Amino acid sequence: MRIEVLKKMDRIAKAAASRDPDDLLAYMGYVFIDPGNSVDGFIMRRKGTTYYGVSRNLTGKKYDFGVMHEGFHGLCGHLDFPGFLNGAGAHTDIGSFSDFHLVASTERDANIGAADFVVDTEAVLDMMGYDNADVVAYRASVESFEQAVRDYKRHYSIVRLNGSPEGRVRRMEAYQQELARMYEELQEQARDIRHGGCCLTKGEMAQEACVPAYIIDFKLEALEVRGYDVSGIELPTFDKVFSRWQ
Ligand SMILES: [Zn+2]
Repeated sequence: MRIEVLKKMDRIAKAAASRDPDDLLAYMGYVFIDPGNSVDGFIMRRKGTTYYGVSRNLTGKKYDFGVMHEGFHGLCGHLDFPGFLNGAGAHTDIGSFSDFHLVASTERDANIGAADFVVDTEAVLDMMGYDNADVVAYRASVESFEQAVRDYKRHYSIVRLNGSPEGRVRRMEAYQQELARMYEELQEQARDIRHGGCCLTKGEMAQEACVPAYIIDFKLEALEVRGYDVSGIELPTFDKVFSRWQ
């Protein structure tokens, strides 16, 4: 997903003076057709006109998300991608609104854009404690830890390449202990932040924003596209960190 596309949708919403997804797509010149219940949504082009629809079975934010998914297909230019439209000139969505592990980049991008629009950026940053001093400090600690792990890996590969004199092995062991100590400190910091309640979990954020958790996942991806460092918010687990160099 490109940031220009997200910003383009911001501009469209501003120009249309509305945050209602159907209003926005109408403003973009797309024509709504009720798809019934057989699909979650669709978008198609016929004789220069773009038609779209989202099943009325989807309600609330899920419906909004579906409409914006179709809108971002249009805005991203997917309709011109070879093979995106089927023989009848249509793209249908069945299950793609709720699947976070999609492989098709067109579906991922449409979902990232939709989540970005449906969930308010300021609200999510606030829920994550993005500007909270403890969280900012924690993010910095995660960064130095990851840097230390990278340094260790570099030393480790040299040891493997050149054999390992005793002194060097001892230094590596000390290095490992230092990493373990740093990691413990990270965990402590993370615990304090959790107890402080200034940084909600993904599940809590989803509840607050009245959306399913996968929409929060896509929103976090959108925030990354917008240049926010959200990687440090989820606490790295020991396995995840150490499996990288073992
Ligand atoms: Zn789609």
